[in-house]
Amino acid sequence: MPLSEFELIRRFFTHPARSAVLGVGDDAAIVRARRGRELVLTTDMLVAGRHFRADADPEQLGHKALAVNLSDMAAMGATPRWATLALALPRADARWLAAFSRGFMRLARRHRVDLVGGDTTRGPLAICVQIVGAVPAGQALTRDGARVGDDIWVSGTLGDAALSLTAARGRLALKRGEQARLEKRLHTPAPRIGLGAALRGIARSAVDISDGLVADLGHICERSRVAAVVEFERVPCSAIMKRHLGRPSAQAALLAGGDDYELAFTASRARREAIARLARRLRLKLTRIGKIVRRKRTSALVTVVGADGRPMNVRSAGFDHFA
Ligand code: ADP
Ligand code: MG
Repeated sequence: MPLSEFELIRRFFTHPARSAVLGVGDDAAIVRARRGRELVLTTDMLVAGRHFRADADPEQLGHKALAVNLSDMAAMGATPRWATLALALPRADARWLAAFSRGFMRLARRHRVDLVGGDTTRGPLAICVQIVGAVPAGQALTRDGARVGDDIWVSGTLGDAALSLTAARGRLALKRGEQARLEKRLHTPAPRIGLGAALRGIARSAVDISDGLVADLGHICERSRVAAVVEFERVPCSAIMKRHLGRPSAQAALLAGGDDYELAFTASRARREAIARLARRLRLKLTRIGKIVRRKRTSALVTVVGADGRPMNVRSAGFDHFA
């Protein structure tokens, strides 16, 4: 029996929404913000053939569609609360939908996000997630607060997601098991929600690294009217990345590869001890990679200097859909 639109929504996308006044099933959802909180909204769209292959694993896709949005919440220092999900599907494939919903809902539950609505239509495969989060009024992390003299920090390790693509294109030979470890970073990123919230009152600016370190730090510099100097040797990377770091393609993955969904943030020198404590508490690597400097008209927004102190030539300036 073919699955009707309403049966499909009922089976795969109707879950109890404890934190909502009204969830899936009516013309719209109703939520209530706590007193003293601001609401933070974000949306991200994933289109087959552009962001993922049409035959991609649906469970991973469900995870990733939500994860990229959660990562934006993390970068704002917000706690994600409610999500809506708009789906265009070429057909109502129950197995695909069950797997997609499983990946999506597992991550949603982990972060106590309620799916409260959405839209479902036939069409070329596309997934659009919206999230509403909350933050204590006036305390959101933004891109425009970096100041000259701030330290630049990043969470976790960078470049593995992009390195898996480099390897998949045959430009890099990996050991058995290595490719799988890298692909895990690409397909099931872990949004840094706990870190984002904990950085309120510590970081002066933050951004999530979706387009690559250089491009995303550039966004902070742009909005804060400053420039950044990053020391290549300090940029944290996995053991796999380290083994290949002599190659320009690996360096490009580390500095300019997207899809890591780590956070980059800036903070005053006086916060170093607080950030070290935070890293221990969250059991998450936080690494100081450079400094915010005054912007000069002639130099780049973000300069990466090598071990010899000389500026490196960084390939690719992040992904631009219309460039
Ligand atoms: P309307 O026609 O009023 O826009 P729909 O028939 O599209 O309503 O949707 C019925 C209900 O199911 C609504 O509450 C809507 O938010 C929800 N919904 C539809 N598609 C999804 C989806 N993919 N995920 C979660 N909720 C959905
Ligand atoms: Mg509708």
